[in-house]
Amino acid sequence: MKTMIKTCAILTIGDELLIGQTIDTNSAWIAKALEPLGIQIKQRVSVGDVKQDILDALNHIRNHADLIIMTGGLGPTADDITKPLLAAYFNTELIWDASVLEHVTRYFEQRKRPLLESNKRQALLPARCDVLFNEMGTAPGMWFEDGSNYFVSLPGVPFEMQHIMQEKVIPRLRKQIQQQTITHRTLITAGVGESFLAEKLATFEQHLPKEIKLAYLPQLGMVKLRLSSTELSESTVEQYFQELIQRTQEHFVVAQDRELEGVVGDLLIQTKQGVACIESCTGGALASRITAVKGASKYFQGSFVTYTPEMKNKVLGIDLNFIEQYGAVSEEVAVEMAKAGLRQWGVDYCVAVSGLLEKGDEDNRVWIALAHGNITEAHKIFVPYDRIRNTQLTTTVALNLLRKFIMVNSIS
Ligand code: AMP
Ligand code: MG
Repeated sequence: MKTMIKTCAILTIGDELLIGQTIDTNSAWIAKALEPLGIQIKQRVSVGDVKQDILDALNHIRNHADLIIMTGGLGPTADDITKPLLAAYFNTELIWDASVLEHVTRYFEQRKRPLLESNKRQALLPARCDVLFNEMGTAPGMWFEDGSNYFVSLPGVPFEMQHIMQEKVIPRLRKQIQQQTITHRTLITAGVGESFLAEKLATFEQHLPKEIKLAYLPQLGMVKLRLSSTELSESTVEQYFQELIQRTQEHFVVAQDRELEGVVGDLLIQTKQGVACIESCTGGALASRITAVKGASKYFQGSFVTYTPEMKNKVLGIDLNFIEQYGAVSEEVAVEMAKAGLRQWGVDYCVAVSGLLEKGDEDNRVWIALAHGNITEAHKIFVPYDRIRNTQLTTTVALNLLRKFIMVNSIS
């Protein structure tokens, strides 16, 4: 169960940094070194060589970043308290590391300097850490993993810190980041609101492992549902995704993140059928969505925008008295429009749309009619938004009704 490393906080430790005796160049260097890895620096904090101040800082920044890189406080002198402090913080004891002891011993031999007890103690390291060997000096770095955080402690001496970063820390981070894959599975539902779906999926959500997230992504007339996980395998996510498909039932459109017009297009290609539309209030927006799909010429015949009763009469041959009798926005007229389309062009399917989209009108309503052979059906929808959004909503509903209509009628 690894956490993704996306954010970092840098904690530099040393009294000299606080009083300005030493300028903190380490945090700027580290920040620059992490930038190419795409790790975002959230905080840069400096504290003195004071136990409680270091602990307070650690407890604070671990809530704000995945990775915490510390420098300083690893020397052999009494003011260097980082190592025992981290051992206590991570609830582990200090143990001797044979290869570090050998390195430190050789380091002093080569320089013809006596090996003091304090130098020897550089090889005493927390049991619960990965030692980041320091070829350039005597204080090794340390890598800890705790809860959802990664902690890296490095010596304060800039060239030693840089060496360990370049040789040990950055390659390890790079490897970790390459393994950070996220599994996404998205499905589309239509014709139902987000809160209705949430209620329907309440028990599913309750039983979902905490490593899988369910996101609701509502759009006009549609809700996309996305399952994602960084920790669990693709097959485990897939298993829950299949259950999600079952649970969305009649509102389920497709198990992909894609446009409804593409789904309808595929269906028409599969069934080798064609469609045409006749639009009034949407002014060609439905045809525009259909033709936005590559290869639409395989199934899309064409469209007429018959806006006025006169055009409905002249182009479609619908009697003006009939339109006056029922009203231009009516089930009867919408059905006549769809039937006229079939008659005029001999297509497999015709969709007709006639409605009132104007903002503020409580009576905003649209009739969507579908025709195929001798079969017709009509649906009345209410559109509560402004003209542009109502047009978008209408075309989405029309495409979804067409999708269902094709599915039902191409089976029979
Ligand atoms: P330490 O690991 O605390 O013993 O630090 C050793 C030396 O590294 C200090 O005396 C400073 O000269 C230098 N140093 C420590 N922290 C920093 C820093 N953040 N930026 C630049 N130099 C530092
Ligand atoms: Mg120091």
